[in-house]
Amino acid sequence: MAATKKDRQALVILLELTRELTNPRPQLEDSLRAVTEAALELLPGNHASIRLLDGSHAELLSGARSGSGRDQAPMTFKRGEGIIGWVVDHSEGVLVDDVTKDDRFIEKVGAGFSIRSLLAEPLWSAGQVIGVLSISSSELLAFSTDHQTLARLLANCSSPPIERARLGRLAMTDDLTLAYNQRYLQPRVYEEIERARRSGMPVSVLLMDLDHFKKVNDDYGHAVGDIALRLFADRVRAMVRRMDVFVRRGGEEFTLVMPSTTLEHAVATAERIRSHLADSPLSAGEGIFLQQTVSIGLATWDRSETPEELQQRADVAMYRAKALGRNRVAVADDSDGPMPISLRAKPA
Ligand code: GH3
Ligand code: MG
Ligand code: MG
Repeated sequence: MAATKKDRQALVILLELTRELTNPRPQLEDSLRAVTEAALELLPGNHASIRLLDGSHAELLSGARSGSGRDQAPMTFKRGEGIIGWVVDHSEGVLVDDVTKDDRFIEKVGAGFSIRSLLAEPLWSAGQVIGVLSISSSELLAFSTDHQTLARLLANCSSPPIERARLGRLAMTDDLTLAYNQRYLQPRVYEEIERARRSGMPVSVLLMDLDHFKKVNDDYGHAVGDIALRLFADRVRAMVRRMDVFVRRGGEEFTLVMPSTTLEHAVATAERIRSHLADSPLSAGEGIFLQQTVSIGLATWDRSETPEELQQRADVAMYRAKALGRNRVAVADDSDGPMPISLRAKPA
């Protein structure tokens, strides 16, 4: 029997997807986005997302969304929570005709789209679930069992390349905060400066150092300190753009590389991060609320300095923020060369 026009279109979409996913240097987010875009072209949904588990297979490493609500960061989920969590826990796909009649469904406020019916399929690697592909529709009964088979095909054919990209990402990820780790920082700053040189666009760097963080460990123990670092990282991620590169430089210090960002916009972002933290304590569980603050140093590339010099200026500015009393944003100026001896000693 000859293939219909629709079948042929589906084949072309799958062919293009598999070609895209065999890119030798896959960027995780690009791979995920390619799959969710293909899912929306192949299936009658208005939203598609992929969520991947981190190395401990407990929480979200990264995600991508296509369709309505795509600009928001992917929603996180915990094992066993909601239908997606159920798919992870039971290692099986679901086809839900009407989520309002399904006890597992948890409505997420602020999702940016409404869900009535849903398909969700696990992504597999080496016998383990590494993530979930879900496609939803605002219509009742949007999906058939054939659609479910197609979603399964999509999940299966995209799992190996996504797993390769995921492993690459895990090697660059800090386990505790899921920010990029320090190994990733220097090559990325070089890359962004090169890009800015070619494009003529600005690039800014924030250096964030949590204030008196040692005291959190002293007062509540290291485990609570760890939770605070994780919560801080989650907050920053929620406040920055997808293109910003968030790195744990070490300990309680983080760098945010902001491509295409002027000094003025970087100051606004830094100030948002600072004030949000100062105004709302971190809830570390068991009734512990941490009144944590952060000092931020900020520098915008002057179009001639090296990546090291740029970061050094942000460093000096951060120490100035500390010296001026902490919980503030300090902007590097042209005279902020390598850190003066007077600032290297830890301010009181
Ligand atoms: P300042 O305002 O001058 O930055 O004071 P501070 O206490 O934050 O600075 P200091 O550099 O003296 O201490 C940093 C502390 O951060 C010490 C260390 O115990 C804590 N820290 C670093 N990494 C981790 C971590 O992974 N987990 C926990 N719980 N604490 C950490
Ligand atoms: Mg520090
Ligand atoms: Mg500190």
